[in-house]
Amino acid sequence: MSIKWLRLKRICEEMTNRIVQIHSSTELDDDHIAATEFNEQEATILLNSGRTKSVEMVIKAIAHELTHIQENNNNHNIDFNEKWEKNVGIVTEKYNK
Ligand SMILES: [Zn+2]
Repeated sequence: MSIKWLRLKRICEEMTNRIVQIHSSTELDDDHIAATEFNEQEATILLNSGRTKSVEMVIKAIAHELTHIQENNNNHNIDFNEKWEKNVGIVTEKYNK
């Protein structure tokens, strides 16, 4: 399987208006699929390599972290899942374009 990482990076940058780095890591705890750190200019998205093995799983995890960046917090508010799901659709569409 090959994942178009650079394309995903560009999509993230477009959707967050930040410079984005995506890292796939073996060092995340097993109970974490992904994590993010961000400020107003930059964002880093860490993916748990063991839990993001397909393009679909990578996109789902990235869309989750993108939602946090767009919301500017790490909370899971009542409407978070709806926004996350919408972002999965947007990222998937852009990725497959
Ligand atoms: Zn989250």
